[in-house]
Amino acid sequence: MAETFKAILIDRDEDKKQSLSHVDLTTDDLMEGDTLVRVTHSTVNYKDALAVTGKGPVIRRWPMIPGIDLAGEVVSCETGAFQPGDRVILNGFGLGETHYGAYAGMARVKADWLIRRPETLSAAEAMSVGTAGYTAMLCVIALERHQITPDRGPVVVTGATGGVGSVATALLGKLGYHVIASTGRSEEADYLKSLGASEIIDRKELSEPGKPLGKERWVGGVDAVGSVTLANVLAQTKYGGAVACCGLAGGMDLPASVAPFILRGVSLLGIDSVMAPKAIRELAWQRIASDLDREKLTSITREIGFSDIEQATSDLLAGKVRGRLVVNIAS
Ligand code: NDP
Repeated sequence: MAETFKAILIDRDEDKKQSLSHVDLTTDDLMEGDTLVRVTHSTVNYKDALAVTGKGPVIRRWPMIPGIDLAGEVVSCETGAFQPGDRVILNGFGLGETHYGAYAGMARVKADWLIRRPETLSAAEAMSVGTAGYTAMLCVIALERHQITPDRGPVVVTGATGGVGSVATALLGKLGYHVIASTGRSEEADYLKSLGASEIIDRKELSEPGKPLGKERWVGGVDAVGSVTLANVLAQTKYGGAVACCGLAGGMDLPASVAPFILRGVSLLGIDSVMAPKAIRELAWQRIASDLDREKLTSITREIGFSDIEQATSDLLAGKVRGRLVVNIAS
């Protein structure tokens, strides 16, 4: 008899009402692909929370196995690019959105989507980083490419206690930047300082509509919030600075003026993790393996079991999750 594995399946009815079930599947139930991966670990990102709760239009094919990040071992690969037992990571490329995702014991995917897991990073650590941490690394690389170096001044991180924000704070702190962490959770100030923040500001300072140009406070930024917050971050960026924009936790709009761009030469750097080319993905994962402090990664991570995923998605959207969650798929 074919081996079965557990999976979370999300479907919706004619009235577009979403339902979630725990099912046992075989590899015959999986979607097309050239590579079969045994999934050992995943995580819960903001996007996963939107998908599982149905609070955001993440799933674009029904039914769907959610989960946008996986770590596991190759079982078979038709292209020959990977050998059985190779340790791999996958994030993006529609996993958990248009292609059956990570919340299952097995995934059939395209070899082209897979990245070899750096040897010094365990599967759990890779998922602790996950899309959120890898996106934080893409932001840091974008700032570096824009010559935003620690000697030029402070950098701001918004949504600092979230997944992207926590990893961005840890990475930038380790790289020697003076990190100003913006958070709505003042009680997490010690946590953010332990990660690498030098200063903490209340997110309210940035969430009310402000002037087109403000006092120059930072030379760079990693923004996971968007909307008015990003507009204010830009307005308070020093001459020639740059802000990496990767998220919309506070809204998708951008009620800003062109003043920071045309009067201070500020740059807005767009960051997409989903379709990022392989070369930058590999660079980002190598940099994560070399630059991210493992103790700090452990301190921001909580491991949960497969049956905890649904609750974790609600908690995340309710702002009750600090840092990163790792899902042990086998548990
Ligand atoms: P989290 O939910 O873990 O963190 C988001 C953080 O933003 C929260 O912890 C909170 O931080 C802050 N926040 C939440 N709501 C608001 C609000 N209304 N106004 C201001 N701040 C708010 O999410 P992630 O870190 O995983 O993702 C952050 C964003 O980045 C999301 O929008 C996500 O979709 C996006 N993203 C984009 C990617 C890309 O490819 N571009 C890839 C990965 C994520 P605090 O309490 O500290 O203020």
